[in-house]
Amino acid sequence: MDIQVGDILKMKKQHPCGSREWEVLRIGADFRLKCAGCGHQIMIARRQAEKNVKQIIPAISKISEKPLADCRDV
Ligand SMILES: [Zn+2]
Repeated sequence: MDIQVGDILKMKKQHPCGSREWEVLRIGADFRLKCAGCGHQIMIARRQAEKNVKQIIPAISKISEKPLADCRDV
């Protein structure tokens, strides 16, 4: 599963605020995600995140905002 910083993850479960979309802020052993609905941030284990992802919306349109130091585990 190819997930990068800045991508939007559409999850199977929805957040209590009603949003299913989370922005990827940081990637490592854990992901840091920000809820697109209410701005709440969480840390979630990579495996758990991947299990819950329904769809990945690539951050192509936001590429100029992306930090150069994308840190990715493979
Ligand atoms: Zn939320």
